[in-house]
Amino acid sequence: MALRGGLDLGGTKIDAVVVNDASEIVGSARRETPRTGGPPDVVKELAAALRDAAAAAGVEPAELAGVGVGSPGEVDREAGTVARAGNLPGWADAFPLAAALGEELGTRVAVGNDVRAAVEAERVLGAGRTYRSFLGVWWGTGIGGAVVIDGRLWLGRGSAGELGHVVVRLDGAPCPCGRKGCLEAYAGRSAMERRARRAFAKGAKTDLFELMRKQKRDRLTSGVWAAALVRGDALATRLIDRAVWALGAGVGSAINLLDLEAVVIGGGLGTRFGVPGAERIAASMQPHLFVADRPPAVVVTELDDSGGALGAALLVA
Ligand SMILES: [Zn+2]
Repeated sequence: MALRGGLDLGGTKIDAVVVNDASEIVGSARRETPRTGGPPDVVKELAAALRDAAAAAGVEPAELAGVGVGSPGEVDREAGTVARAGNLPGWADAFPLAAALGEELGTRVAVGNDVRAAVEAERVLGAGRTYRSFLGVWWGTGIGGAVVIDGRLWLGRGSAGELGHVVVRLDGAPCPCGRKGCLEAYAGRSAMERRARRAFAKGAKTDLFELMRKQKRDRLTSGVWAAALVRGDALATRLIDRAVWALGAGVGSAINLLDLEAVVIGGGLGTRFGVPGAERIAASMQPHLFVADRPPAVVVTELDDSGGALGAALLVA
């Protein structure tokens, strides 16, 4: 039986799994992503997380058929490099992640885009497996996307699926990417946090930052937003409403272009808000649909937290 490793490299945590031929998890581990240093420090933690998962599965990393890594930033699968990973410490230039991690672990390593890896896992093992075509919408720190057409991920010229940077308002809010009016500028968690901090500094009443401290966080995590909504916090409610408005416009436009069967919602906020959140996005999308009487199914990811690492393991399947 050939075992494979999968690593999901996120801005806050690293998820590691070891899976068997049937993509069943036989060992797993989690570590925090380093906040300081640079790519070599991240590689050390990736290796440590994978070693933990391998130990849980009762194997050595070198015995694995290979290890896949789902990474943020600009990923060059052929070269095995990652550049401009904004949420990772000191990671601007292209770094040979596959080679460096392969040396640490003594097995071959493949790297891929993190959202695409998670969506591929949904296609093969999760909420997308009954559809020939669907759009993955990863609602978290940013807005990630991936398109499955005729049972295959559509890669375009290598960077298809950047749903977060479709324009929902001309000359609109500044996006973390440096452009204006992108979906991510309204619905991405970091853009929402920036706006909440500005409003708070100007005197807006909100429990968001008190909840953040209570949950011992230093940023507005999905859990903090969810708790604020439960309390009926006015600022949180307004910013989430705005995010849902933007998601409806962005996702609806993508459906008008591609006529896909389904939309699979994932990511930190997407999974946190679950089915009710998906229903809100579906309702917000509806007025934008050109073929209004045949909307796509809007469903939630089935693999939750382990989807990213499972999809990464598929990179070496
Ligand atoms: Zn943008």
